[in-house]
Amino acid sequence: MTANAQIVIDQVSHRYRPPTGREVLALENVSLSVQNREFLALLGPSGCGKSTLLYMIGGFLPTVTGGIRIDGKPVAGPGPDRGVVFQHFALFPWKTVKANVLYGLERMPLPQDEREKRAQTFIEMVGLAGFEDSYPSQLSGGMKQRAAIARTLAFDPQILLMDEPFGALDAQTRGLMQAELLNIWRRTPKTVIFVTHDVQEAVFLAERVAVMSARPGQIKAVIDTKFDKTDPHVFKSKTFVDKVDEIWGLVRDEAIKAQASRAK
Ligand code: ADP
Ligand code: MG
Repeated sequence: MTANAQIVIDQVSHRYRPPTGREVLALENVSLSVQNREFLALLGPSGCGKSTLLYMIGGFLPTVTGGIRIDGKPVAGPGPDRGVVFQHFALFPWKTVKANVLYGLERMPLPQDEREKRAQTFIEMVGLAGFEDSYPSQLSGGMKQRAAIARTLAFDPQILLMDEPFGALDAQTRGLMQAELLNIWRRTPKTVIFVTHDVQEAVFLAERVAVMSARPGQIKAVIDTKFDKTDPHVFKSKTFVDKVDEIWGLVRDEAIKAQASRAK
């Protein structure tokens, strides 16, 4: 199983040591393998370390205890093989939407007009046509998030790391973006790790759902969610509803534990 895994997370722990205040053991002995081209959702209660784990895979936080390898190589920092959409993703405020998306394409060996075309395609895909020349400060939170998603998708990274990317979107846009993400993932060979706290979203998008425990985060269970989801009424199907129930049960237990430890 782990033999051809692309991303191997091996016994990773992470302790935050803020200059003031208490130390926090955010992750403890997390092991997880993600296969090439797999779509994995990471689910867990608030504060369980989902973002921390994603930052580490992205190379934005050093791995001190344990190891993370991608295609056999230890992660030593961010790289163009990994595209990230963070929860609080900052666009360059001094660049327009178009310039932000083009920035991600600078490394691509494409002529300028091809880059422009590509940027436009992704801007339209996320529903921002007409806002190419707007600055981030002129956009709503959801629009900024969509611009950030366009920027990341446009440069076609092999691995997509997404931290609650659709959390700020209205239900309709969210549905459209989910469908578009699945389309992209089916069309282009990408491995996706998608953090969400929405169980339905996880079951709909992912082939496997890793449920994390309350802090310190550990992988509590990995549930197979690979089944035919092409039926427009899949949300009402027994397979779908049963999976959501099963995973809800696991998440609920952890959310209760997380709340209890916060109350202490
Ligand atoms: P999640 O994304 O699952 O909500 P995080 O990975 O953001 O969880 O955080 C995990 C834990 O680590 C939380 O208890 C959070 O308060 C703590 N934490 C996150 N970032 C820092 C930091 N920079 N310094 C200290 N503690 C932090
Ligand atoms: Mg988070």
